[in-house]
Amino acid sequence: MFKKNKIFIISIVLLFLLAGCSSNESENSDTKDDKLQVVTTYSILYDIVKNVGGDQIDLHSLAPIGSNPHEYETLPLDVQKATDADIVFYNGLNLEAGNSWFEKLMITAGKSEDSAPVYKMSEGVEPMYLTTEGKEGEEDPHAWLDVQNGIKYAENARDAFIEIDPDHKEEYEKNAQAYISELEALHQKAIDQYSKIPKEKRIFVTSEGAFKYFSKAYDFQAEYIWEINQENQGTPSQITRVLDLINEQQIQGLFLETSIDPRSMEMVSRETGMDIKGKVFTDSIGKPGEDGDTYIKMMQWNIDTIYKGLTE
Ligand SMILES: [Zn+2]
Repeated sequence: MFKKNKIFIISIVLLFLLAGCSSNESENSDTKDDKLQVVTTYSILYDIVKNVGGDQIDLHSLAPIGSNPHEYETLPLDVQKATDADIVFYNGLNLEAGNSWFEKLMITAGKSEDSAPVYKMSEGVEPMYLTTEGKEGEEDPHAWLDVQNGIKYAENARDAFIEIDPDHKEEYEKNAQAYISELEALHQKAIDQYSKIPKEKRIFVTSEGAFKYFSKAYDFQAEYIWEINQENQGTPSQITRVLDLINEQQIQGLFLETSIDPRSMEMVSRETGMDIKGKVFTDSIGKPGEDGDTYIKMMQWNIDTIYKGLTE
């Protein structure tokens, strides 16, 4: 009798467990089937992809807002998200190359082969190159600081979504079109605003040399303390070099990046007696609800800050 009851109870418990499992599973697979699981390597791509993917996607950014995407230590959650992803977007142009973090993550996530699509957002961008000794010939990643390249990124995201999820082609096209019109207006705004800065004032210094594509697009001369975040930052020889440069050239302003340790630029400011004119966004958008919390807002912020800094 006792044995029989025990078996009965165990059976009931098992039934409940099985029922619980299967209902959980179907909930999970429902949400998964509904939305494309999308991973981007950092916050700027995150925002562009969000605008194009709209309601059809669940999105995760690897390097969080405010962090340095050049070198990033991935967390267990990142491995999980990358493994589950239907699409992974990365910048390319040597951005995610520090510590080979992205390459390693893709291997861990089983995405080094053709197991899932990995898309390069900078596809079609004409690369610019580093000039620092020992790094000559390496691509400079900061293409997004020229809004025309931001438009290319949006187009690449659109084409990737259509390829993976052709059922929602019209939605992706509509989202992309609306977003790209905004970017075109922003690019025109940048040209109009910057045209009011006299040529001799179009020269400034940031910590990292992130403004190559920007300078080419909007006709500036941008100098730096170190050329790219993958190298040692703020070494004595880098500081000496930039102090000499400021002595020799008519630098009109120092700007500090939101995602970079301020100490080197503060030292340059102290040594030269030049003010830091403001903060600019380079490798990250702003935190939600704060200044520059989208790609469009960060670029608008940069336009205004650089304009004000170089004209007042
Ligand atoms: Zn950078």
